[in-house]
Amino acid sequence: MKILKFGGTSVANSESLSRVLKIIQNQRGPIAVVVSALGGVTDLLVEMLSLAQSGDDHYKDNLTVIEKRHLETIKNCVPIQHQSAIISFLKKQINELESRLDAIHLLEEVTPKNNSSISSYGEILSSNIIQEVFTYNKINSVLKDSRELIKTSSHNGRDIVDQEITENLIKSYFKKNTSDVVLLPGFIASNALGETTTLGRGGSDYSAAIFANATDSRVLEIWTDVSGMYTADPKIVAQAMPIEKLTYYEAMELSHFGAKVIYPPTLQPIIEKKIPIVIKNTFAPEDPGTLIDDTPTLENVEIVKGISHINKVALINLEGSGMIGITGFSKRFFEALSDQNINVIMITQASSEHSICIGVKEDEAMKAKKVIDEKFDFEISINKVAPAQIEKNMVNIAVVGEKMKDHQGISGKLFSSLGANNINIRAIAQGASERNISIIIDKKNVIKAINTLHEIFFEAQIKELNLFVTGVGNVGSKLLEQIEKQTEYLIENIRLKIRVIALSNSKKMVLGCLDVFMIFKKSCI
Ligand code: ADP
Ligand code: ASP
Ligand code: MG
Repeated sequence: MKILKFGGTSVANSESLSRVLKIIQNQRGPIAVVVSALGGVTDLLVEMLSLAQSGDDHYKDNLTVIEKRHLETIKNCVPIQHQSAIISFLKKQINELESRLDAIHLLEEVTPKNNSSISSYGEILSSNIIQEVFTYNKINSVLKDSRELIKTSSHNGRDIVDQEITENLIKSYFKKNTSDVVLLPGFIASNALGETTTLGRGGSDYSAAIFANATDSRVLEIWTDVSGMYTADPKIVAQAMPIEKLTYYEAMELSHFGAKVIYPPTLQPIIEKKIPIVIKNTFAPEDPGTLIDDTPTLENVEIVKGISHINKVALINLEGSGMIGITGFSKRFFEALSDQNINVIMITQASSEHSICIGVKEDEAMKAKKVIDEKFDFEISINKVAPAQIEKNMVNIAVVGEKMKDHQGISGKLFSSLGANNINIRAIAQGASERNISIIIDKKNVIKAINTLHEIFFEAQIKELNLFVTGVGNVGSKLLEQIEKQTEYLIENIRLKIRVIALSNSKKMVLGCLDVFMIFKKSCI
């Protein structure tokens, strides 16, 4: 058994769906396919919910957009004579959604139950449409509602997967299944009362991992819009490169610190059964992607594997002479936060014990301050501790690599390169595992900081060779073609980047980039 998960961008429209179809048609043996909502639809649902809750009737606009997106996809992917059942299903779902939102709009109130059930519509709609596309394309597939297989229960206000019940339900379902392909909506689950719950934003990856674990799959493939886990977010660093191989722990650190391509809880069920994960690009399936498994990192690869970052972080600082030498201070501090389910991204405490500083998500900062101040109410009232201070507009950056622990000088390199670029580091932490170094900086410096770190850890080792080619006849133009073809190979294998900076023949000379040269070459021949 093999699990393939297709994210929102892979199922965003009819064009991307046709790529998904090809990938499925090329599979051999039984598979399960987990799908997300059409790209952007969950965001629209969440936004719609908050508009309705605040009494703003613009939520109806989102509803129209959602209906139109799905209708267009159906019209482009399913032939007209097969459309009626799926269109009436869509209409029914949209009407249901509208009635629920009207009620929320009227009461101006959202319960966690509403929250989950509204955001689940994205996956319900996408999976039903995709099943129709599969059927029409003669794929022997069955659609199974994941809410009947993944069961959750609430702990401190969070929906946590009930592992044993879930595993048994999945096992017994797959034992009886006879279809080649089982199609499953990601992200959604249900509780013991049968009410819809969700696995958190980005949770389809986690759904896929749960199915992989329970079916003892030989591999989990995560199909997305980039060719693997990159050395940094490719949307921020143009030079970021796909990482060929990561250990589970490296992938966990990178995703925990913001590499959105994998939702962090995904790794847990996978590690338990040592199932390899491959991250693949739906739009470039021939690219190798990234393999994540438990085999150790090879000797000759980079020490730093990747850089990830979390936006919208706030620093919270608790300071005061009353903290010195008193045992249990940190315990009370963290207890206050965990009682309220506040996730701590990073912790630093000076050895003088005069202060504790933590990083939390910006939208949880006020709540965190409130609970900390309440916990240290007495110490604050006698001026032994100052009320917690919040600083917003921060970003957490983590530099990750399993081999960092065996090498000195990584942090030195990090600090000196940021220092040389006038980037002020507000807080630092290094885990005992030494798999990551984490820093907090001001948001305004984030692009500069990540690009600087990327250059120092990944690009600096690449030697550049500037080439001036005189003569672009047969030999010269063949050389240019070879350079163009081998650009990636040379960078990856011998860390050499050849840059053709000028070309000339007996009549002309040009300075510029390869594209300009190709035009020049054609005009000369
Ligand atoms: P999907 O819809 O397939 O689940 P996501 O948007 O959740 O896709 O994740 C893919 C995106 O993650 C990429 O488009 C990329 O911008 C972002 N990303 C952030 N950090 C990284 C990284 N280190 N490597 C690859 N992608 C990253
Ligand atoms: N559709 C959900 C989201 O956008 C789950 C997912 O895509 O993984 O968060
Ligand atoms: Mg995702």
